[in-house]
Amino acid sequence: MATDLKFEYLREKALSREIPDDAPAPTLELDSLDTLWLQVTGTLCNLACLHCFISCGPKNDSHDMMELSTVDDALEWARDYGVKEYYFTGGEPFMHPEIKTMIRRTLDQGPLSILTNGLLIDDEMAGWLADTFESSRYSLDLRVSLDGTTPEENDALRGRGTFEKIITSIERLWDHGINPVVTVTTQHAGAGGEAKRREFFEFVRSRGIDKPRLKFLSPFKIGREERRDRGYEDHERLVEGDLGDTGGEHLQCSSCRMVTSEGVFPCPILIEEEDARMGDTLEDGMESIDLDHPACYTCHVDGVTCTT
Ligand code: SF4
Ligand code: SF4
Repeated sequence: MATDLKFEYLREKALSREIPDDAPAPTLELDSLDTLWLQVTGTLCNLACLHCFISCGPKNDSHDMMELSTVDDALEWARDYGVKEYYFTGGEPFMHPEIKTMIRRTLDQGPLSILTNGLLIDDEMAGWLADTFESSRYSLDLRVSLDGTTPEENDALRGRGTFEKIITSIERLWDHGINPVVTVTTQHAGAGGEAKRREFFEFVRSRGIDKPRLKFLSPFKIGREERRDRGYEDHERLVEGDLGDTGGEHLQCSSCRMVTSEGVFPCPILIEEEDARMGDTLEDGMESIDLDHPACYTCHVDGVTCTT
């Protein structure tokens, strides 16, 4: 079954069922820890996007910036568990004053992707990233978020004037030899449909990026997005049996964990959910998890993974 059809089928199946109130959620074991996320700037961001599912912003300090020593500890644990790839996110990772040291140390032991809004990547930083990638044994990838092909579409979610700044950042990275993945949140600007996806592709190409790399992500209805649009409805949750024969291998939490200044969480989505906190160390994060948060429904029926 083609992927889009498969997820359409899962959505329809979920809508047409009745769930008893006491139906238990599925439990998911960690297959292997392949991907480690680091919430390097916590919930601190230079933007306060209306659809941010962890309500990041200049005033959100529910997760502090990570100390360099906390990142070092996480990298050491990751070596022990054979982690294959790393992701930095926030908030906005380039707000961290020690971001270059963190990037270098992480690249010493594996490929790294950084999720950013691009606003702080000036010419000096773009050049440094290109040089670092060139001299590194492992790959360095950038993901830059954009939510429309016009200022009206994007700025309605990300803030006035951000469209041009984001595009400038993407072009700057390209000029330095880096082709970032442009990440688009679907259902904003109608980006869920094929026509709009094609429009995004052509738009990015029209800005001089010969080979656009795009990633489309369904929105999670939590954080600020819950207030902007709506939260989850009662039927939007997972119960035992939903994962079918394949278990949860399509879910990123079957092979990832997230480290923040506040401890270890199953994934990048649930860091503001106190119940989701697994403990202080990656060893605590080796436990199985209950997929009892409504956001797990989006991962399952829309096939969402935050990895590239
Ligand atoms: S969506 Fe990204 S750029 Fe926007 S507030 Fe959240 S973390 Fe910051
Ligand atoms: S929100 Fe998604 S990635 Fe996180 S625990 Fe639930 S299914 Fe896994």
